[in-house]
Amino acid sequence: MEPKLQAILDGVRQAKGRVVALTGAGISAESGIPTFRGAEGYWVVGSQNYMPQEMATHEMFERSPEEVWRWYLYRFGVCRHAQPNAGHAALVALERAIGDRFTLVTQNIDGLHRRAGSERVLCIHGDAAYVRCAGECGVGRLDLPPFPPRTKDEPFSAADRARLTCPSCGGWLRPHVLWFDEYYDEPNYRMESALSATSTADLLLVVGTSGATNLPMQIGRLAFERGAALVDVNPEENPFAELAARSPRGFFARGSACERLPEIVAALAG
Ligand code: NAD
Repeated sequence: MEPKLQAILDGVRQAKGRVVALTGAGISAESGIPTFRGAEGYWVVGSQNYMPQEMATHEMFERSPEEVWRWYLYRFGVCRHAQPNAGHAALVALERAIGDRFTLVTQNIDGLHRRAGSERVLCIHGDAAYVRCAGECGVGRLDLPPFPPRTKDEPFSAADRARLTCPSCGGWLRPHVLWFDEYYDEPNYRMESALSATSTADLLLVVGTSGATNLPMQIGRLAFERGAALVDVNPEENPFAELAARSPRGFFARGSACERLPEIVAALAG
């Protein structure tokens, strides 16, 4: 391991500091779940190509709930069949080593952290395992009904519609995920909890995120301004790497989550 990285991690371990890990789609890439930036993130409707930033919106759901659900049901199937990888496992090991000094803040909706065994997880972009009433009738969070695996071309059926009907008001159920034209909050997306954990963290460990969304960047800036250690694991340059470069206790650990996390966690856990 690079000496500077080793020194930063030794410092956090010796101080028994709190650690916030902030993960994005990149940590699940080695489990076979495409990130939003790859070509596989696109979705074709008729002859038109949509980017995730257009599909994952309240506006699109209002216009075409069947098409938005068709996209999610395909993506959720991919997530369900993926297995956690060595990066997810490393974060479980860190949590077991330092207990309540650890908080995991994830942008991923794929459930792989939970399935790997992480417990202190804040899902700031929601969780594919749940649905809720699109009309906010008050029914609360429900489990996503079981669906058989789907192909990209599978049409939306009457059976799908029945499964995705709110049992209380008869309107649409929606995925429990934050759309690009919606706001973070505490009840659904644990915004305040994530910021509060960051406000006492001695280390922010960022893994596999491009920093394209608002709360993750707020978390990065808060850690930076507080002088927390900042380690960014990513094969590519990104805004967190820039913050790490400007921080006296910052380090850009270039590489994949599976390559870099096990040794980083071993150094932190001692
Ligand atoms: P992103 O797609 O914008 O960026 C992915 C980042 O991961 C990039 O910086 C890339 O360089 C990096 N990366 C790629 N392979 C990696 C690897 N093996 N190890 C470490 N890093 C790697 O993803 P984002 O920043 O999380 O933001 C996109 C949004 O997409 C989020 O809102 C998230 O909820 C959603 N999303 C989630 C999933 C999932 O749940 N698995 C998948 C796709 C998108």
